[in-house]
Amino acid sequence: MRITAVSTAVRSVILQETQFRRGRPVAGTQDILFVRVETESGHVGFGEASSWAIFTGLTANASKVVVDEIIGPEITGLDVSRTHEIARALDRYPHLPAHPRSAVDMALADVNARILGVPTYRLLGGSDASWALSYSISEAEPDAVRSIAETRIGEGYRIFKLKAGSHPELDGARISALRHAAPKAAIRVDFNGSATEAGLRELSPVLQTCDVDFVEQPYPAGQWGRMRSTRAWFESRIALDESIGGEDDVRRVGEDGLADIIALKLGRFGSSSRLIEAGTLAARLGMSIYAGAMNESRLGMSASAATFSTLDNIVEGCDFYYPYTVLGEPGFTGGAEVVDAELRLGSDAGHGIDLPMGWFV
Ligand SMILES: [Mg+2]
Repeated sequence: MRITAVSTAVRSVILQETQFRRGRPVAGTQDILFVRVETESGHVGFGEASSWAIFTGLTANASKVVVDEIIGPEITGLDVSRTHEIARALDRYPHLPAHPRSAVDMALADVNARILGVPTYRLLGGSDASWALSYSISEAEPDAVRSIAETRIGEGYRIFKLKAGSHPELDGARISALRHAAPKAAIRVDFNGSATEAGLRELSPVLQTCDVDFVEQPYPAGQWGRMRSTRAWFESRIALDESIGGEDDVRRVGEDGLADIIALKLGRFGSSSRLIEAGTLAARLGMSIYAGAMNESRLGMSASAATFSTLDNIVEGCDFYYPYTVLGEPGFTGGAEVVDAELRLGSDAGHGIDLPMGWFV
């Protein structure tokens, strides 16, 4: 069945909560690129690209141009079921950005699953396992950390990721406040690359006393030597996130023993199959995986959960809460649903989501 059209739409979705990125508040709206793939049989599939330039290097409009001018023309006319042939066609562009590529890959998985009449996880060889959600807390004041944790615990959350490093003088008190509010929860501390050796040494006793599960991405991506020397004395488990841009990074981190856990994100790998290969390699190298996400809508989260469901070396918790608490109504429903802070994949064909036709004119 040939691909007859690849179309795109950038939509603005309201943020229901103020978010903090690198310590600065972000409110208002968020642009998202959606992709629609259509076949000659009239089947359609949908995908999306995360669009926080601080993480992806691309705005939604920049990703749209990549799909409209490169990926769309390259794959139009190809057989939608020949997924390896499509991947090889795109491999002719070695510098193709991963996020728009992933949006198209997501749409292709959706259309192929719909043609077969199965959920995406079935197409990919995964399962409909449910996913305990981890809630990320970025607020600076320890009192705010405490009250957010209490609210989320009331909703069923039992895993938290505290964003740290923006106000290092407060981090010890913030971690203690979170532990006090959530005595039984799993607590992870994510520096997004903003920690220092001295800061980690100072924080180390608090990390131990508060039973912090792991510390994520202390230094910026690429600072391998710094990570290696910290591993020699740092007692907490380490997860790397921004450091992992592809399979080569997974191999390096595993072979050098630089982390216990790696966070993978579908958009960053460009396709489900690449993420699954990286996750399988991580297992072979003795590492666990954290099911990461950025700021995708329920479409991207459903596709991510289906992809991660193929792997078994995954630590509990995932980043998939975002569209269910932070993003406002995006103009569609369906896909994975959240019940008691757990994400559950549905049984509808594909990702289980239909985007409005009128968006793609
Ligand atoms: Mg992270």
